Amino acid sequence: MTITPIIPQSQGPVIHRAGWLAMDADTLIENGCVQVQKGRIIHAGVFRPGLEGIIHDHGPGVLMPPLVNAHTHLELSALKGRLTLDKGFEVWVKDLLSLREKTGRDGLLEGFNQGIRELTDSGTLVVGDISAMGIGDTILGESVLSGIVFREYLGNIIPEIPMDEINGGFVVALAGHAPHTSSPELLKSLKNRCRKRGLPFSIHLGESREEMEFITTGKGSWADFLTYRGIDFSSWGIPCQSPVKHLAQLGLLDEKTLCVHVIHADDDDIHLLSQTKSPVCLCPRSNHLLHNTLASVEKMQANGLLLCLGTDSLASTPSLSIRDEMKFIAHHVSGIEPKDIFRMATENGARALGLGETFGRLEPGMSGALIHVRIQANHKQDILESIYHD
Ligand SMILES: [Zn+2]
Repeated sequence: MTITPIIPQSQGPVIHRAGWLAMDADTLIENGCVQVQKGRIIHAGVFRPGLEGIIHDHGPGVLMPPLVNAHTHLELSALKGRLTLDKGFEVWVKDLLSLREKTGRDGLLEGFNQGIRELTDSGTLVVGDISAMGIGDTILGESVLSGIVFREYLGNIIPEIPMDEINGGFVVALAGHAPHTSSPELLKSLKNRCRKRGLPFSIHLGESREEMEFITTGKGSWADFLTYRGIDFSSWGIPCQSPVKHLAQLGLLDEKTLCVHVIHADDDDIHLLSQTKSPVCLCPRSNHLLHNTLASVEKMQANGLLLCLGTDSLASTPSLSIRDEMKFIAHHVSGIEPKDIFRMATENGARALGLGETFGRLEPGMSGALIHVRIQANHKQDILESIYHD
């Protein structure tokens, strides 16, 4: 499958034409085109001669919005294929911390660049990148990617945080690592700073059995691990009923809190996420490899949750390709429609990152960044599915 990223290069009008145009999950146009000027789309629809601009005819295949990887950690890309995933979550976390240390800054930066190449080669041009170390700012700023850099914090200390801007297409926002690694005071402080600026906030939530045991009992191997690392959790309001309810009680759930993973969530939790309109980022392959389970996608869909896709880091998944996540979810979630999968990978991802006015659909006023996918299908009903099927 050949995927070609198309990045606006010139100011003047340019027309991209292909056999099909997927403006969004519901709007498929045969012999479609997108006219771009000064980096923005000025027209999208059926190709007709006479439109002003240089024509790039991409032949058969489909023009579509760039894929959105709403959750990854580019700074961990150098760990690709180097960690054991089947010895439990704690072993993985410990190995990750030690290997990250051993790899060193230069090795991590080399991995970061490789990660960006993986993203662009697989058609992802919009990303929600978790940055715990801040080492990739310059690289990201100079890349063709756009999106959000979530500066991530954990533990008990509420830090001074400069809300600086990254050059290029990135906005800086904040992430709390997770409810089992961070104090309620820290999480509230981070969320409030995002709220004041209208920015998204991201958090890993309900990912592992160890997190569930700790949140619901205050004991277990995770409690021991925190104690071993010298982190005092006596004031964290734990035990409580569930990770989702913990966040709800802290007032952290709303339409700008991107909840990542949410594997462990009962019906009440899913209802809470629905009531608060909190978007959920599924990382299906990472969840499968690291935890041998998946989130309740059907129930989440039935409750109207905004679902998007992320790969998580290369420390827990074999590629940063959102197309691979689309393929995986199509195989593992029964009854899911190609249209839903397409929406998760494009429009929903953009909306979950607070970028729904710029990315996720191809229509006038939106970003002129798009991708061309060389699919084999000819019939309208097969187009969306063929984007992720080999
Ligand atoms: Zn993550």
